[in-house]
Amino acid sequence: MEKKSLNSKTIFVSEEENTINWNEVQNHFQKTFGHEVYSSWLKNISLLKEYNDYLILGVPTRFFRDWIVSRYLDKILKDVKSFKLSLNRIEFKILDDNKIITDEKFKDTYADPGKISAIKDSILNYNRLNPLLNFENFVEGSSNKIALSSSKRVCEQLSRYNPLYIYGGVGLGKTHLLNAIGLKLQEKNNVMFISAERFMYHFIKSIKKNDMVNFKDFFRRSSVFIIDDIQFIRGKEGLQEEFFHTFNSLIEKSSQIIISADRSPTKLDRVQERIKSRLSGGLIVDIDTPDLELKSKIIKNKLNDISNQFKENYNISEDVINFLANQSKTNIRELLGILNRVIAFSKIHKKTLNISDCKNILKDVFNQTRVITVDKIQNTVSNFFNLSLNEMLSQRRSRPLARPRQIAMYLAKKMTTRSLPEIGRRFANRDHTTVIHAVKTITKLSEKDEEIKNNVNQIKAILLED
Ligand code: ADP
Ligand code: MG
Repeated sequence: MEKKSLNSKTIFVSEEENTINWNEVQNHFQKTFGHEVYSSWLKNISLLKEYNDYLILGVPTRFFRDWIVSRYLDKILKDVKSFKLSLNRIEFKILDDNKIITDEKFKDTYADPGKISAIKDSILNYNRLNPLLNFENFVEGSSNKIALSSSKRVCEQLSRYNPLYIYGGVGLGKTHLLNAIGLKLQEKNNVMFISAERFMYHFIKSIKKNDMVNFKDFFRRSSVFIIDDIQFIRGKEGLQEEFFHTFNSLIEKSSQIIISADRSPTKLDRVQERIKSRLSGGLIVDIDTPDLELKSKIIKNKLNDISNQFKENYNISEDVINFLANQSKTNIRELLGILNRVIAFSKIHKKTLNISDCKNILKDVFNQTRVITVDKIQNTVSNFFNLSLNEMLSQRRSRPLARPRQIAMYLAKKMTTRSLPEIGRRFANRDHTTVIHAVKTITKLSEKDEEIKNNVNQIKAILLED
């Protein structure tokens, strides 16, 4: 056998997925966060070190880090993930005092990865509870009063209501409550917190790896099982089957189960009857849309938090608070987004804001955050090409179907913040490499093919119009 030369060693490159190009990421940040937030915050973040599953980012000060972690961490993680799929967390290093964050809470949630098996490790990374979503900062109002008190009661007396099923529309605090329950119970219990989508991801991965034994064992071991957004199982037979068995074995050993969904159990179409009946077997509570009082209270609470945490005061008048509270009718997440934006503006311009300032700032926000979803893109594209949605998502490869499908994937990547694997899943469970291929193909074609270019632009215009 030929002896390897020294040189061959030096050209050996690891086959890690990819290396991040920080400039590209920064450009992306500018787009997703908008110029103001970008130039006052994100621009100052540097990439210090890259690992396969996490990044160490450098920030100038502790204040800076806290601000970013409390406001933008989720979005930052999502953005960097779109560049490197294997990333699942971020650590910050404060360049001032040279210390990496070691909040106790963060340390807990990222338990020593060396000591756990591969499957547990990968699940753990998504099983992390967010220490910022707790009962203390969940504001009570008439729309969430019952959901809140039931959540607290579950923590005091396990398996009294089993399962606890919390449902309500987008951005109303379901994940926050589930997370708060998890935090409360994790000291004394083996808590599993996972979204139904992640549950499926691990399910499929385990099937592929022929590792179902580990999968079953892992999920059935928890004494508190919290699963978010269960509506995700609609129409997915294999997943429902697995969920049903997991559910039963957990109940059998009196583990507490807590579930959230965007609708009541009876309205879960394309879900097996036996599962619906299991889901309805405990306590069902809903979260309603917030009234003005709750929204104002949440705003005041947030302002309070900020002034306590960062020793900064924003003198926002009652009028302005009411104005802001009225801007988002049905979504607390959106409301907080609006508030952040206004605060950032007031900080940058060192100015106490009045209503007309807010109107100006928000004009911009609404243009930027127009909600374009993968669903909406799929519907618009299939309408545009006169196809049914089924045809467009089907496995058929003829060009009249494949091109629109690729255009839809391309737009989903360009116009939403969904990651490649998520987009793949939304297109009848295709692999993320298919999405990458589609994005490349359409990017190339729209440079040289006038018709495709026009089609893409027209569809974009339709999406941005309504
Ligand atoms: P859902 O899971 O129902 O879509 P989330 O739990 O993600 O909604 O809530 C959206 C955002 O609104 C989160 O930042 C959450 O902390 C915040 N939020 C929702 N309800 C409340 C509340 N009652 N008090 C404080 N923050 C809330
Ligand atoms: Mg949620």
